[in-house]
Amino acid sequence: MSKNLAAVTNEQLSQGRVKSTCPYCGVGCGVELSKTDTGVLVMGDKTHPANFGKLCIKGKNLGKTLDNDNRLSTPTINGHSQSWPRALDYVASEFNRTIEQHGKDSVAFYVSGQLLTEDYYVANKLMKGFIGSGNIDTNSRLCMSSAVAAHKQVFGEDIVPLSYSDITNSDVIVLAGSNLAWCHPVIYQRIREEKERRPSVKIVVIDPRATASLELADLHLPIKPGGDLILFNSLLDFMAQRGLLDLTLPGIDDAINAAQDSRRLLPEIGVEPELLEQFFKLFSDSDKVVTMFSQGINQSSQGTKQVSAILNCHVASGKIGKQGCGPFSITGQPNAMGGREVGALSNTLASHIEFEDSQLLQPLSEFWQTDTLATKPGLKAVELFAAIKRGKIKAVWIMATNPMVSLPDHEATRQALEACSLVVVSDCVASNDTLDYANVILPAQGWGEKSGTVTNSERRISRQRSFLQPYGEAKADWWIICEVAKRMGFAKQFSYQSPADIFREHAALSGLENNGSRGFDISQFKQISAAQYQRWLPVQWPQPSGRSRRLNDQVFFSDNQYYHVNKQPLIKANHHQAKGLDSRLFVLNTGRNRDQWHTQTRSGKAATLTNHQPEPVVEINREDGARLGIIDGGLAKLSAQGQALIARVKLSAQQLPSSVFMPIHWSLSNSNQGCVSKLVTPVFDPTSGQPAFKHSQVAIEYWPANSNGMLVVRESLKQELCTYQIEQRIAGGYCYYLASEQSPQQLLQQLSKFIGDYYGEITVANDDKGQYFRQHYFNQGQLEAGIFTATIMQNLPQGWVSNFYLMNNDNTAKRSLLSSDVDALQQQKTFCQCLNIAVGDIKEAITSGELDIAKIRKKTGAGGGCGSCISDIALLIADNADSHQENAREICYDEIK
Ligand code: SF4
Repeated sequence: MSKNLAAVTNEQLSQGRVKSTCPYCGVGCGVELSKTDTGVLVMGDKTHPANFGKLCIKGKNLGKTLDNDNRLSTPTINGHSQSWPRALDYVASEFNRTIEQHGKDSVAFYVSGQLLTEDYYVANKLMKGFIGSGNIDTNSRLCMSSAVAAHKQVFGEDIVPLSYSDITNSDVIVLAGSNLAWCHPVIYQRIREEKERRPSVKIVVIDPRATASLELADLHLPIKPGGDLILFNSLLDFMAQRGLLDLTLPGIDDAINAAQDSRRLLPEIGVEPELLEQFFKLFSDSDKVVTMFSQGINQSSQGTKQVSAILNCHVASGKIGKQGCGPFSITGQPNAMGGREVGALSNTLASHIEFEDSQLLQPLSEFWQTDTLATKPGLKAVELFAAIKRGKIKAVWIMATNPMVSLPDHEATRQALEACSLVVVSDCVASNDTLDYANVILPAQGWGEKSGTVTNSERRISRQRSFLQPYGEAKADWWIICEVAKRMGFAKQFSYQSPADIFREHAALSGLENNGSRGFDISQFKQISAAQYQRWLPVQWPQPSGRSRRLNDQVFFSDNQYYHVNKQPLIKANHHQAKGLDSRLFVLNTGRNRDQWHTQTRSGKAATLTNHQPEPVVEINREDGARLGIIDGGLAKLSAQGQALIARVKLSAQQLPSSVFMPIHWSLSNSNQGCVSKLVTPVFDPTSGQPAFKHSQVAIEYWPANSNGMLVVRESLKQELCTYQIEQRIAGGYCYYLASEQSPQQLLQQLSKFIGDYYGEITVANDDKGQYFRQHYFNQGQLEAGIFTATIMQNLPQGWVSNFYLMNNDNTAKRSLLSSDVDALQQQKTFCQCLNIAVGDIKEAITSGELDIAKIRKKTGAGGGCGSCISDIALLIADNADSHQENAREICYDEIK
């Protein structure tokens, strides 16, 4: 149990403000950092074109994640600390030995959208240029590789043609498979502002779930899971019948034939014909339509076809290449795009050069000064780990990612890592589910320490700048990779002195024999000086050498020039393939919560972020819950492929029948039950290799806990105390959510003994309150721990407990502590984190008949800070206004007049 050490700021921050980029989602918001007496202040960068000063709740709380808790400080080999030279020698010699004995395809790198572009570049160069294998893949495979594959098919290159300004210049905004309000909040707020300015802008949400993104929707198509291809194919056919398509485009006839087949299946997708008609007319009749799509489209066994169908609709109807319209893939991670630029997906060679670009192979070999260039694509993420499990790959280096949690089929990943002779992990955290299987652990620098570039969803390259001293012996990823490369025998080609050196080479490579043949070209920066790199302003590509630089709003395909040989787009025929579903099972959809990020290694440190949803919650349709005997707030057991987990239940009329949703943020490191990848089947799109995280099938049953409990302690526990145990970081300590087969009294006794053993001499305050039992532990007047047990979770003061350690000197709070009014305590849970407005205030406004979001905001003040919670008011209305259901629906699904 380590005490937190405050991160130490570096000279740059001491001398003034530092501009950098948020490390979470693909919006790529600019941040400005300044030093305060107590730490680091994080503000939105008003000059950054991605966010113009705005930040969501995650970005706003970045300053609270900068402690050095759970950080790696030194390299280790088989659990023993080593010097850097020794660890690097070991990794290099083991990789060389494995290659010598088993061939170059017996090794692999599995990298991450959290890496900076410079890190990505040298990792890709080492594997594909010098080891000579294609076996480098990235966790971005899991979130946007279907978009990459479809871009290549239709456009001829992986190009996102739009800018954020196109969204606000459009008349119709379609959100397909994207809960933008939670997953890309700053862009959603930009849409809100535009909608307030121009109420005529129509917003369509296509999603099986009624998410927070419905707040702004004029039209919601609650499509059945897997229905998106049928929908967009049908839209293509609708436009074909109205004579709205360019019938001269290559592939258009076959695509329309496939679309007609799909249209016959339209009644199966579960959307009322009138709503479909409204959507088709809106899309067809407007010149300015932006379709934003994300994981709901990409993470499917036919994800590439689904994206391709969206691109077809835009390209064939001419809704592309002009300001305010086009298909917009919104990326999940901060630098998934940087990985795509350098070619770090296993089926791309380098810098938007494909393995099939035979005329470029020799120039690339000469550029990199190598004669061992990889000649064929490597294995994609799921295949790669399957090959590790089979023993085909014997050494893997995992960089800045946690595949034990993020890949499908947790158990298969565990078996793969256990079977692998050499697992090297470079990461900035000291513990996560993957590190348990590492032979070699290399401490990498985290956000704030490292320095380089990232590219956001709109192709904008920004700097991440260092403002903290590296913790312990942590090193930059690019440095670690280059040091291993040098020791493997490639010193000459990996002798970079700085990220700027690498960036110059990356820029130069993008211009290699390019002359407009590849859209990705930033060769203008191939001779950028160190000072210019340091002063870098956010800029969108392309930026070819010899042309004047444009900072903002570049529009691709305005000249109708695509990147196939004939310069035309290729309209793909996308035939729907029905997936047989077992009607006895539920479709499991996985995704993100509003305030968390990936496996919580950073966002889980900020108590203000853990409060929104402290437990992994499975959302189940109310009628399904009633049929299965599952109660709201109770627990359910979900099982698939021989694995099972237990999750807290939220029954909701907003969840489609026969489908459930669970978040991705819990792992074995912070829960013993919540790791949803246990249930995700390793089914993937055959073209992109992207796993179908939205469409696993699971069995669900009631899990009969006899007691629920909360244990509040100062420090993180390593012990498993109950069958169900979830850790939440709270201000000053941790809260454990527990459920057990024991009675509440027995659970109280068990926890009481545990606390007594742990703290030794301590004062105990017992107070049985009928609804629940509790004990509080004081040491010299200081509140040290608390135990709360009850039959059901609703009888525990769950919402309030995050303030447990904040009330030490607060007499009012202490009196509140001794109150038995659980309901009142629960209502104190914070709803608006920025302005500290309680959920009870919002509910009171709803109960008093305020069913209008604007009025509730005015009355309570909620949403006046970062705005992340505004959309959640709509969800609260829907959940709490049973007697006003119709009104709530009006707010959510107001039909288009
Ligand atoms: Fe960070 Fe994304 Fe929030 Fe912007 S929208 S502050 S990039 S998490």
